[in-house]
Amino acid sequence: MSLEKYYADLVIIGSGPAGQKAAMQAAKLGKSVIVIDKDPHPGGASLNSGTIPSKSLRAAILDLTDFYERSFYGKIKPKEEVSINDLNFRLNRVLEMQRELLMRQFNRNQIRLLGGTAYFINEHQLGVSDAAGNMKYEVSGDKIIIAVGSKPRNPKNIPFDKERVLDSTRLLEIDHLPETMLVLGGGVIGSEYASFFAALGTKVMVADKRERILPYLDREISMHLQNALTGIGLQFLAGKELNTIEKKQDEVEVTFQDGTSAKAEMVLYALGRVANVDHLQVKKVGLAVNSYGYIPVNGQFQTELPHIYAVGDVIGAPCLASTSMEQGRLAALSAFGGKARDFPTFFPIGIYTIPEISSCGATEEELKKKGVRYEVGRAYYYEIARNQIVGNDIGMFKILFSSDTLEILGIHIIGREATEVIHIGQVAMTFHARIDYFIDQIFNYPTYAEGYRIAALNGYNKIGRKGKDGDL
Ligand SMILES: Cc1cc2nc3c(=O)[nH]c(=O)nc-3n(C[C@H](O)[C@H](O)[C@H](O)COP(=O)(O)OP(=O)(O)OC[C@H]3O[C@@H](n4cnc5c(N)ncnc54)[C@H](O)[C@@H]3O)c2cc1C
Repeated sequence: MSLEKYYADLVIIGSGPAGQKAAMQAAKLGKSVIVIDKDPHPGGASLNSGTIPSKSLRAAILDLTDFYERSFYGKIKPKEEVSINDLNFRLNRVLEMQRELLMRQFNRNQIRLLGGTAYFINEHQLGVSDAAGNMKYEVSGDKIIIAVGSKPRNPKNIPFDKERVLDSTRLLEIDHLPETMLVLGGGVIGSEYASFFAALGTKVMVADKRERILPYLDREISMHLQNALTGIGLQFLAGKELNTIEKKQDEVEVTFQDGTSAKAEMVLYALGRVANVDHLQVKKVGLAVNSYGYIPVNGQFQTELPHIYAVGDVIGAPCLASTSMEQGRLAALSAFGGKARDFPTFFPIGIYTIPEISSCGATEEELKKKGVRYEVGRAYYYEIARNQIVGNDIGMFKILFSSDTLEILGIHIIGREATEVIHIGQVAMTFHARIDYFIDQIFNYPTYAEGYRIAALNGYNKIGRKGKDGDL
């Protein structure tokens, strides 16, 4: 097979959210673009094993178990009535549509996609090899963007398989729903999947060395989450550090460093992810990863070589599809002299546990630490008519604002639609809105968004300012 050679103004390694948006932006600036991906399905972890599959499963689980009907009709469909095939059917439909959309966008913008594993030959040239390790393309670029993402951190001593000891990628291949599951790690991925399986009726335990689930969230919100999860049968094992994982006849036994142990039919190992730099050979061009294994960049996403950029999970936190997309777009703008602003200092975080959580800005703990004078406005979901109409779930809005200037400093929402309605607050914060901004607006009724007004009134009344009516 003869070696094919290509050149483009921009060569991008990785077709996940970061690579896609970089490609699209450069194409819109009139540049020729090549994207290389080693996965036969383009779209990155986001489309193939992360964001889209997990959120599709979540939606399927909520629908198929009639989850939101519980408060009216008092039951969740048992998992015997929901099969893995039902879940996968919907998941695969979504994946097909998303893949089709991606390829349409690439074709429309004349972005060339090359399959294979990329590695540096020199500062402007990459080799691309097939699965057997044979070089099939030589690709040169004026600018290069590294958007290779991340993969589960899988220590060698963990006996992973596709049936009982799983990571978040392997979990997508199970052939039945387990009776019991032990999730190692109460971070975002662990908590999300734990809540999905608990909603299905699986008996789920989450073990973490920390004292609470998702400890970096505003404390009140994460306690609220823990209560909600307990309500759907999930058990949280705090202060548990992993010692061993052993497969037995029909179950897996996990021992912890405090001498205790737990057994389950399936174990989900969700103890972090690592950057996908294995094949890149960045050393060849004098680049190095930092002590966490990520590629360091400056504010414009340039590595130490100014024409080589890195974006997305490969540069470390926040490791979200949402932020990766914007990093990719900004890097392409910066590479080709477009008008690139700085990456936003605050952005929303969405966590799709059941119930979901979203927040923007400071937590109460952060404000306390900084010595900021603040007040809190709260609205509980039971006060919101829309919530009673569609399912009477638990949840709350929590708005933190300055006691002196009334400027909104942080918004934290747990409950149905949290990841949607957060954007109202995010926009308000971008314009440095004060808490009374929400009081002076008319909200559609009945909506979840009305929670902003109820929380604002609650907070405003606490600071004893005159001029706003009290309760609704
Ligand atoms: C279970 C799960 C749920 C998640 N849920 C959310 C969510 O709800 N919201 C959210 O915002 N984020 C979520 N994330 C995070 C999100 O998926 C990642 O932040 C995002 O995918 C990172 O995008 P990326 O473009 O940097 O990399 P990736 O999406 O990882 O894509 C990198 C691509 O590079 C390719 N590649 C790697 N090395 C090479 C090489 N040498 N040559 C060629 N190709 C290579 C890979 O095959 C891959 O296709 C979730 C992640 C997981 C695992």
